[in-house]
Amino acid sequence: MQVYLDHAATTPLRTEARDAWLEASGTVGNASSIHGGGQTARRLLEESRERIAAVLHCDPIELVLTSGGTESINLALKGLWWARAARDAVVLPDGEHHATLDTVEWLRVHEGARIVGVGLDASGRIDPGAFEEALRSPGVAFGTALMAGNESGTINDSTELAAAAAGAAVPLHLDAVAAFGHVPVRFSSLRADAAPASGLVALSVSAHKVGGPVGVGALVVSRTAAVTALLHGGGQQRSLRAGTQDVAGAAAFAVAAELAENEREAEAQRLAALRDELVRGIRAAVPEAELLGDPVHRLAGNAHILFPGAAGESLLFLLDRAGIAVSTGSACQAGVPEPSHVVLAMGRAQADARSVLRFTLGRTSQPSDVDAVVAAIPEAYARASGRS
Ligand code: PLP
Repeated sequence: MQVYLDHAATTPLRTEARDAWLEASGTVGNASSIHGGGQTARRLLEESRERIAAVLHCDPIELVLTSGGTESINLALKGLWWARAARDAVVLPDGEHHATLDTVEWLRVHEGARIVGVGLDASGRIDPGAFEEALRSPGVAFGTALMAGNESGTINDSTELAAAAAGAAVPLHLDAVAAFGHVPVRFSSLRADAAPASGLVALSVSAHKVGGPVGVGALVVSRTAAVTALLHGGGQQRSLRAGTQDVAGAAAFAVAAELAENEREAEAQRLAALRDELVRGIRAAVPEAELLGDPVHRLAGNAHILFPGAAGESLLFLLDRAGIAVSTGSACQAGVPEPSHVVLAMGRAQADARSVLRFTLGRTSQPSDVDAVVAAIPEAYARASGRS
């Protein structure tokens, strides 16, 4: 049986979410249609929106349903940029997800955006003071930041980051895709009520990271934020995201979001204990192995581990052959593994940034998964580092 330790890439679809999707997809009617079938679809859609909004602590009207985290981030960043046309800079911390990096790069190339970078500390955290200083530099249209690192697992201090943006009177987007389901993601407690057009104004989440379907996500956009739409058409969703709405996807997302939130605290405890066991077992088998990221303020299921002298891709391949699915942070460019930009941002050398594996546990993870890794890692490491 496959040992699946890549829950941060995607976590298995929950049966309850699949059932909700199947049931909703059996009803006919466009949620924008006036007839009875359309109204039934509309009721289910709006009820699902309310349920997701309740989990995220935002108003239902603020929840824009999208095709996933990548679209949400594109809408937030391009939308905030176009709405603040007189500004010419974007605050971009190092180590962001590629959905953010590539969108900001697009803004740089096509819109002339200036990038104001913010470094990470050795544990992969954004320093709120440095973030605020960057936000206060002239001409900043918006700032963006990860709530928690999808690769390092390090949890940023979102309260401080949001306060920094409010203090600098700059709108902030938070990428909560990796954090959602693992730490509290509460829009209303992070937004700045005193100056609602700045501070936290937008937050991205994705259904398939919490056991919902792939291809469904949401962007919370505060009512007072100025965001220009990417998609134009039928005027749906405050004209922020036109197009016939995915009622079945929303219904499934609502079920998955509620279940993830209800079990969040208990799962965090269970997974942190399993994760600690995994790290202990790996370090006992491979003493050179080193846990990266914050040892305490990290996502419960995340173990981001440096294996000195071993190529991450080789380790991944060898573990895969042993029936264990994990991931590396490094992308492949034309078949050549690139160093992880996150590990580099943590101040590590190029060689280290090619020698990291990310193990991410989730709700289907069991002690037997940990045992399987601990049994397979000595040989995989010996072979990947050329010691056997
Ligand atoms: N942001 C983060 C932090 C992620 O981990 C991911 C997915 O891996 C995304 C954005 C993109 O989300 P999606 O896969 O829903 O497009």
